[in-house]
Amino acid sequence: MAEKSFQSLIDCHRRELLQLWQRNVDVFAVLEPLLKRHGEAIVDGFYRRLQKHPQAAAFLAEEMIDRRLRQGVAAWLSFTFHGAHAQTVEEFLEYQARLGQMHADIDVPLNLFLLGLRALKAELIDKVELLEPRYHKRAILYIDGLLDLVLAIAAESYSEEHGEMISELQRLRMSIPPENLQLVCEQMRNRLLRWYAEQLAALHQGMLRNEGGHGLAPLRESEVGLWLEHKAPLLFPENDTLEKLRQACREIDRQIDRIGRIRFRDAGRTVARLEEEMKKADWLLVELGREVAEMEGRTDPLTQLFNRRHLNTVMNFGNRRARGGRQYAVILLDIDHFKQINDTYGHDVGDQVLKWFADLLGEKVRSSDFVFRYGGEEFLILLPAVQASTAFSVAEKLRWELEKTPFRLPDGSHISLTVSCGIAMSGGEWHYERVIKRADQALYRAKHLGRNRCVMADAGDRNTPRSS
Ligand code: GH3
Ligand code: MG
Ligand code: MG
Repeated sequence: MAEKSFQSLIDCHRRELLQLWQRNVDVFAVLEPLLKRHGEAIVDGFYRRLQKHPQAAAFLAEEMIDRRLRQGVAAWLSFTFHGAHAQTVEEFLEYQARLGQMHADIDVPLNLFLLGLRALKAELIDKVELLEPRYHKRAILYIDGLLDLVLAIAAESYSEEHGEMISELQRLRMSIPPENLQLVCEQMRNRLLRWYAEQLAALHQGMLRNEGGHGLAPLRESEVGLWLEHKAPLLFPENDTLEKLRQACREIDRQIDRIGRIRFRDAGRTVARLEEEMKKADWLLVELGREVAEMEGRTDPLTQLFNRRHLNTVMNFGNRRARGGRQYAVILLDIDHFKQINDTYGHDVGDQVLKWFADLLGEKVRSSDFVFRYGGEEFLILLPAVQASTAFSVAEKLRWELEKTPFRLPDGSHISLTVSCGIAMSGGEWHYERVIKRADQALYRAKHLGRNRCVMADAGDRNTPRSS
């Protein structure tokens, strides 16, 4: 979460928390040991409550989530009710904000996350009856107030983190080849000019009927306007030209509104202004198309896989999620003795083999994995949220697929191919380059050990023996 917005969150909730703590020192003194004593029962009760909810139950069925959630709730309890408010306000708020971020990072749906917090609150309040009756009311109010505060902070940081991730993902999913984007810009130019011609015709009609500019339709409601509002920001993220274009369009609509309001006789200057803004918008669309053309393609034309230019976005995404606790794996694959294929069958066949291998990879990995053409005959796969053993078996499966499936030439003959793989797990690094570097070292070892095998980075000599 951005430093600035976290600060404003803290400012907003700091006073409320301090008051709550100060007013309830005596309540806290009896509540803390009670909750500590019943920690396990609280976690169990929280769990039972969640399991009654079908969506939550499906989520909890995943063994890893189950284990981590139990640990997480126990840790949350001991932090939140630790000592006589031993943490500082900042530490407390930051901890609760991290709670939200962490759940967003591992993609827990927001309604489930909130459901969890509510279940926790109900479970805590249930335990209050074990206190002396004179504490009941204040203990309930204290828990209620504290959990509401936690909910507010955690939900805000959840939304912020999740929003960032979603837009990043959308950009990825919408990675449209630049030539198509250029075409879209050209189409939008045509539509803008058509819209303008229609407005001029309507104005002319209005003039004949003495009705002025009442019949004009704003640009924001036209196809161009809707595209600019809803789609273009995803296709051209953080693009200055697009921003200027959107401003020009708002200006166009201001002129259109004015023409609608003033008497036609006085409309001359406004129409001139409209004309000016129209020229500007048209020029900005040309400019946007040109920028797109200059932008290098993100997909590799031969294999249609992402190329290295896309690596940064995707790997940063993987890295950020890994900070939420889920490791990712990188597999680097390099086709063995590929040069011989070119030398024996020619470059064109080499190209066909690369394309065929890329398709094979695409088919065999999960749709949540990312496959890149990393270099000539080198490929990189990012596997989000996996354990080392799974990553290793994925690599091994791919290696084996290639070994058992020869490439068929049009004349019916076959080319047998093998691949070497290096695998590395993320380990909380700040930069993904280090993970790739370790995968590359493992790949080097796989080649050195005789090719057609998978080697895990930093795992001694864990590798598959050459099976042919
Ligand atoms: P090793 O087992 O050590 O990986 O041997 P290798 O021959 O695969 O490796 P080397 O790096 O010596 O050669 C890679 C070859 O891949 C050389 C290059 O001509 C070929 N290559 C790279 N990109 C393409 C491509 O797009 N099309 C074709 N046909 N060949 C390519
Ligand atoms: Mg190579
Ligand atoms: Mg090679």
